[in-house]
Amino acid sequence: MSLAEFALIDRILARTTARADVVLGIGDDAALLQPRAGEQLVITTDTLNSGVHFPVETPAYDIGWKTLAVNLSDLAAMGARPAWCTLALSLPDADADWIEAFADGFFALADEHDIVLVGGDTTRGPLSLSVTALGQVAPGQALRRDRAQLGDDIWVSGTLGDAAGALRLWQQNRLKVAVATLLSDDETLRERLLRPIPRVTLGLRLRAYAHAAVDISDGLLSDLGHIAARSGVRAEVEADALPISSALREQLGREGARDCALRGGDDYELCFTVAPSQRDAIHALSASLGLPLTRIGRIVEGEGVHCADADATDGGYQHFSERR
Ligand code: ADP
Ligand code: MG
Repeated sequence: MSLAEFALIDRILARTTARADVVLGIGDDAALLQPRAGEQLVITTDTLNSGVHFPVETPAYDIGWKTLAVNLSDLAAMGARPAWCTLALSLPDADADWIEAFADGFFALADEHDIVLVGGDTTRGPLSLSVTALGQVAPGQALRRDRAQLGDDIWVSGTLGDAAGALRLWQQNRLKVAVATLLSDDETLRERLLRPIPRVTLGLRLRAYAHAAVDISDGLLSDLGHIAARSGVRAEVEADALPISSALREQLGREGARDCALRGGDDYELCFTVAPSQRDAIHALSASLGLPLTRIGRIVEGEGVHCADADATDGGYQHFSERR
């Protein structure tokens, strides 16, 4: 079944929910939004291209979920409360079943975070999905990359490397992304690749504690490198402290798991820096969110990201320069 562009937009429109601050949503030439008085707008865009950012055979539901998740993750890393988004869709054909499944994934996450779709664009072309997400934050409260302080602890949420581990298994033909697997370790990793959980609530709560924050989309070393570069400091990471899931260690072994945790992307966990005086507060936050928060290193004078490698022959720090 093939749908004309307008029928397709109607299907998406039927799924959108209301928000009092949307004066005019989908249907006009542009949307009219009413930001909260005195707050700053936070805006971000991320695009996912088929075969580049996800395997071609990825189910439509998961593509819908991930398209929004990566953008919500950017808002989370800024400490912003999500509000509105637009969706630019490039589709090879207007398949009704595909659109419904895509919308199921997209709106499951949108509704959970009270972010509403207010417009977009629909074109024919290679499968590509681009979301622009907007959020709001009070002046001075946003979490930025350039505010890390000397002496800060470095923390990360969740576990690291799972998504990269799933991708590796997929590349080695050991895991299918198109169908759920019955093996629990495989399914854990597969879920982490296909349905990343944007740490929106964590980002909001961290406004009270964190000096700097970034979401991990390209890998810990790379993304923490952005904090180091923009804050003019050096980040020291303790490789043994990295939170690694038992599923990842089972599937890839200690070295493989550690490599995924340091260099793998697509986890969408938050990495943030906090004064050591707030350790108890961060442990309490972890308990109240039911989300592991792990201290993995500290901010010192210097530059770059350095990883204490217990296996290094000189017992010293191994240097990792951040990619640019
Ligand atoms: P225009 O030609 O004025 O750009 P369109 O015909 O492209 O308008 O779109 C009509 C309406 O549908 C607009 O309000 C637009 O924002 C919305 N829209 C189009 N594609 C999408 C989409 N993929 N998701 C959400 N809204 C969309
Ligand atoms: Mg248009």
